[in-house]
Amino acid sequence: MRGSWKLRILIGVLIAGFGLVRYCSSMEENPYTGTTQAISMDPKEEIAIGLANAPKMIEEYGGMYQDQRLQNYVDMVGQKLVENTVATQTPYQYEFHLLADPQTINAFALPGGQIFITYALYSKLQNEDQLAGVLGHEIGHVIGRHSSERIANTQVWQTVAQGAEVGVGAGSAVSQIGMTTLLSNGRDDELESDDLGVRFMIKAGYNPNEMIGVMQILKAAAGPSRVPEFQSTHPDPENRMEQIKESIRKYGGVVE
Ligand SMILES: [Zn+2]
Repeated sequence: MRGSWKLRILIGVLIAGFGLVRYCSSMEENPYTGTTQAISMDPKEEIAIGLANAPKMIEEYGGMYQDQRLQNYVDMVGQKLVENTVATQTPYQYEFHLLADPQTINAFALPGGQIFITYALYSKLQNEDQLAGVLGHEIGHVIGRHSSERIANTQVWQTVAQGAEVGVGAGSAVSQIGMTTLLSNGRDDELESDDLGVRFMIKAGYNPNEMIGVMQILKAAAGPSRVPEFQSTHPDPENRMEQIKESIRKYGGVVE
């Protein structure tokens, strides 16, 4: 039996090694952000995942907001950001949705271009520039391919875990890609999206200082039970505002 035990370990190590090699060979530079990342999907798959999950998200946030005028307005601001920036050169299909949820202050993006803002957040915004700030940040997640990167990271760990399981002889329990994987952005992803959001605002003719206004709204609105997507991964909103000011200067804007 000792021999089969060694064989199991060897197979486990080989599977884990295969996962890591595949992960490393999938490293590529994102042509729109310049960031090097591991991606295991092509844009067509990203678009398909976004479209497949959009109805679930819409349902979870109380359906679409029932005012076509406001839907058109949100879409108009989103499309203005897309048309005036590098977003227009990407293969993604951008759609902007206003969700009915009057309580959850949130905005998020699915891979491939499906972008959402809740009415709770929308109703707190003071001007169009702030709406552009929120949508620009979310476009940043799409172009930054943050979900796809997380899926690649999850897959490599699943393969490594599978290898470990074969090694120790446990049954396989590889989980599916869940909503958490799709929606939970890391700290670096948030900072990159803030930076891209500022860049898109300036390109589309919006006042980038209003991104700081958005941060102030989120900071004021965040209570113990509400953790907005914008703040969830950021221990210090003040640092985030400082970085936004740096981005404004970097892209030729003037900090007010
Ligand atoms: Zn974000």
